[in-house]
Amino acid sequence: MLTAPDLLLTRSDMSDPRLYCPEKLINGARLQLGRDESHYLISVMRRREGEKVRLFNAEDGEWSAVVTAADRKQATLDVAGQLRPPAKVPDLDLLFAPVKKNRTDFIVEKATELGVRAIRPVITHRTIAGKVRTDRLRALAKEAAEQTERLDLPEIADAVQLDTCLSDWPSGRPLIFCDEAGDAPLMPDALAGLADGGVSILIGPEGGFSPEERERIRALPSSVPVSLGPRILRADTAAVAALTLFQALRGDWAARAQAREN
Ligand code: SAM
Repeated sequence: MLTAPDLLLTRSDMSDPRLYCPEKLINGARLQLGRDESHYLISVMRRREGEKVRLFNAEDGEWSAVVTAADRKQATLDVAGQLRPPAKVPDLDLLFAPVKKNRTDFIVEKATELGVRAIRPVITHRTIAGKVRTDRLRALAKEAAEQTERLDLPEIADAVQLDTCLSDWPSGRPLIFCDEAGDAPLMPDALAGLADGGVSILIGPEGGFSPEERERIRALPSSVPVSLGPRILRADTAAVAALTLFQALRGDWAARAQAREN
């Protein structure tokens, strides 16, 4: 169902290429794109002078702009009008232990599509992935945000050790601990008992959490251990399943969340 701000966006606007733009978006602003964006817009998307593009960022929302110089290395755009006001995703963070490169990429892309506010890689005892390339993950998240019509980019935090993350945990923020051991309540039941507000979801590495880590996570006062059902899921599947459940039951796919906002 379309909501009032979405109605400003027509079907024809939606076929215009969409670019994240960190610069201030206001009526009449003239913007010069960098080399990569110019290449994408002019050489790949084949936009010509006079054609439209959409620009967005978290502070200003989404705007229509017109190509005024179709230069493949430095295109120029004139901002023409606002299509959608800024809108936030739910206060939902994903903490995950990096896995193999293509599976980590998958997690970042799908978490962005599913509307997380922040993605935080955590290094656990059994994490086998090498150096976490945060710059690459940021580029992937930007691409996913551009194609998925969200109005902001998720924050991609630098990787931290799980121990540090737990020691610095903000008091009162639920940490939904996806624990495949089988003795935790199913995630929908556990979510039903939570007060409204932000949450973080924690997913372990391919080899699971070590027994000491599991004990430490469970000892955190705001830890909420959950099960994702009777099968052991791969870490990337578990991330998508947990985020989907949260969005459907408590996040921006949920009727009660919509009702709270209206
Ligand atoms: N223990 C296993 C091992 O030794 O390989 C499996 C770990 S699983 C591949 C990776 C992560 O996905 C787990 O640490 C957990 O966070 C999550 N996960 C997978 N299946 C789950 C389930 N049924 N319930 C809750 N979390 C699950």
